[in-house]
Amino acid sequence: MRWVVLSACFFVLHMARAEWQVVQIDGRDYVTLASIAPFYGLGAPAATGPKKFTSSGGGRSIQVELGSREAMIDGVRHWLSFPARPGDGGACISRVDLSRTVDPALRPEKVAGLRAFRTVVLDAGHGGHDNGAASRFGYEKAFTLDTVRRLRKRLESAGLRVVQTRNSDTFIDLEARPRVANKTPASIFVSIHYNCADWKPSANGIETYSIPPLGAPPTGQDNVMARDRLPELGHALEPVNFTLANTMQHALVGKLGVEDRGVKRARYVVLKDAATPAILIEGGFLTNPGDAARIANPAWRESYAAAIAAGILEYKKLAEQGTKPREKKEW
Ligand SMILES: [Zn+2]
Repeated sequence: MRWVVLSACFFVLHMARAEWQVVQIDGRDYVTLASIAPFYGLGAPAATGPKKFTSSGGGRSIQVELGSREAMIDGVRHWLSFPARPGDGGACISRVDLSRTVDPALRPEKVAGLRAFRTVVLDAGHGGHDNGAASRFGYEKAFTLDTVRRLRKRLESAGLRVVQTRNSDTFIDLEARPRVANKTPASIFVSIHYNCADWKPSANGIETYSIPPLGAPPTGQDNVMARDRLPELGHALEPVNFTLANTMQHALVGKLGVEDRGVKRARYVVLKDAATPAILIEGGFLTNPGDAARIANPAWRESYAAAIAAGILEYKKLAEQGTKPREKKEW
């Protein structure tokens, strides 16, 4: 390992005055948690488990685990692009994760490219011959459409315009869905899905996706593949997409108290082809008995729609007024 202290850090990260300690690990730049903590007003990292380090202060916190991509930031689960590594007696995170996940999570109001919107394009996942996942209560395609209709009412009563990619049980190509948002000026795109894991019925909870940083692997993939280096439309707004996803996950787990599966990254067609801010929400597992019963309950879907609407409105305040979004514990 070769240690370099960079004082001209704006060159490295386009931010900050502090001196980051940068180390090369497997040809990738990493920074020590200890060296970035003061910039965010966080205290010195402390060991909080066999491989865990936590840095907190001023009501904010970040926790990483050596060898793991899982991190907790302000109480919400995140999935880093690369595992945290040991270094300088503590933990290091990759430069990509600092600039693309930790920084926008801790300083959302500083994210470049946030802009006002007046239309929300709602995408009910699946439809027609594509049933999506299923529980004993019904198909994903029906639950997503019902959720979108409830969400539409809530957004419209908050003064937003809503466009739906489908409003009936019809099949729509994946590629056609983000195109609806791309031709709708001043819009954001929110795709609604429910999850399945037939091999693991215990899997439950909610996760929110945005596109991975360019050159970084999706959450479910260990190594960087050639396709991960291909720029897509969605990469132009990648930090904005992440910020929308993070704001949403805080609202969902804060308001609903469900299992927090985290803010994840995936190269889904609907995310990579979107030229507007775009996220995809998996609102629970149809293969989990508890989640499936909740999702089948219209009253729960109404609460869920209310939570998504709250997340969208919180993001709107951030994008238009620079108001820091509420954290999980504040909902
Ligand atoms: Zn789905």
